[in-house]
Amino acid sequence: MKDDVTPARAGDSGGRWAPGTHILWRYRENGGTGVHICRPVTVVRDTAELLAVWMAPGTPCVRPVLADGTPVHREPLVTRYRKPRTVCTVPWAGTGLLKLARPGDPWSVWLFWEQGWRFKNWYVNLEEPRLRWSGGVDSEDHFLDISVLPDRSWSWLDEDEFEAAQTAGLMGREKAAAVREAGRAALELITEWGPPFSGGWEDFRPDPSWTIPSLPDDWGRAPGGAAP
Ligand code: MG
Repeated sequence: MKDDVTPARAGDSGGRWAPGTHILWRYRENGGTGVHICRPVTVVRDTAELLAVWMAPGTPCVRPVLADGTPVHREPLVTRYRKPRTVCTVPWAGTGLLKLARPGDPWSVWLFWEQGWRFKNWYVNLEEPRLRWSGGVDSEDHFLDISVLPDRSWSWLDEDEFEAAQTAGLMGREKAAAVREAGRAALELITEWGPPFSGGWEDFRPDPSWTIPSLPDDWGRAPGGAAP
């Protein structure tokens, strides 16, 4: 890793990443072992209860694309999870994004704003509980998501992708049932307005001194080194 993204080491600050540290927030390919999503982010808070990171606009991010160049979301559902893929690197478009994750939760909660910092929504990304390693956190996306509006009303998202992924054999019945159950647990948390929803994170603003993290050349390496 480059010097400017060297993570805090075990023993520093109680083994936590200091605010301002650059780490990688990654997702493994579904049904594979490689990494297909890599987002360099800045640590906002790292405690035993919560990891909060900021994805700055313009950050170079790795994302999957079909081998013929078609963006994943443009590919029809019947073939979206069946055609060969590769990855590409593109700057994060639009406004920034705050990601919140409680260790062990099979989801992370993302906050979106409109231009001008008008809060738009929370987005619950159902995923494998994150593996923490020296360079960041790794997970696997579970296709199904939940959107929560400022009035706290919610809706399932991407149920069609969830179905299509199962049909394509990327997720078995038992796993899919567990993911839906995790979603219901998240909905309970939303109904009782527990953390991290209750944390007032809508008022978060990034430290103006923070720079945009770079994408290290070895962004796809196997998680190595002990977690800090
Ligand atoms: Mg998702």
